[in-house]
Amino acid sequence: MNSQTYRFKIGRFQCIAVSDGTHTYAPPTFPPPAIFLFSNAPTELLERVLRQHNVEPEHWVEWVSPYICLVVETGEHRVLVDTGAGALSPDTGRLLQNLKTEGIEPEDIDTVILTHGHPDHIGGNTDSEGKLTFPGARYVMWKDEWDFWNSEEAAQKLEEHVREVLLGYARKNLPPIQSQLSLVDREMEILPGIQAIAAPGHTPGHMALKISSGDEQLLCISDTVLHPIHLEQPEWYAAVDIIPEQVVDTRRRLLGRAATEEALVLAFHFPFPGLGNVVQKGEAWQWQPIETAQ
Ligand SMILES: [Zn+2]
Repeated sequence: MNSQTYRFKIGRFQCIAVSDGTHTYAPPTFPPPAIFLFSNAPTELLERVLRQHNVEPEHWVEWVSPYICLVVETGEHRVLVDTGAGALSPDTGRLLQNLKTEGIEPEDIDTVILTHGHPDHIGGNTDSEGKLTFPGARYVMWKDEWDFWNSEEAAQKLEEHVREVLLGYARKNLPPIQSQLSLVDREMEILPGIQAIAAPGHTPGHMALKISSGDEQLLCISDTVLHPIHLEQPEWYAAVDIIPEQVVDTRRRLLGRAATEEALVLAFHFPFPGLGNVVQKGEAWQWQPIETAQ
């Protein structure tokens, strides 16, 4: 049994969901989980929904979130989506070791796609000395995202209690990739079979990906949703969603698309391996995790 990596196929592409570990979100650094994840939810309804999910609201004192990166081997390219959190906490930064168990060395990765600039997605870009972890890779990011983290605006838009950590991560992990960076400013193919999809809201240039081969596709939605309850209540945004109204629009667009196209979906923060289907339920949706042998 190995709950750190999970292999699956999309057409001819070999994909691997790779855990970077987990991170515990709890006071005093973060608000209690219910407020952190569903900041604008009406209390009574929230409590009812939580109980439907077997969560006792008063006893939910910490959110232990998985961090799930993705490897796509297309035959010509070996692509990594997001680099995890690095040394954010003792339980993160497992990416390299888990890649190794799959026989993948950092030099083997030729493309690194960063869905957005939060610490848990760019933290593995560099090592403790600031050197690039994937030295031979081309890096890809949405232009608005790169511009945001390199602007004065970032400091103003970020919540005070996380501002320094977020900016610190961006300062350490973004400048070293600049000479190997390609910026994307529209929905286009990054590589054959890997398409960038605009998914702004969680951050200004948050990016989703459509990975397709033959008649199969994977929608990698990253942090469009952070918790399965977000599918049922797409209007409940999280404290870390920078542009809440846009999050709601993006969710409706991507979840609707995933349901209609019956796509396999990967959500970065969902229970490992983070893979499942999105099923329409009334005006909203429901998460249906894939069955794994684990
Ligand atoms: Zn995240």
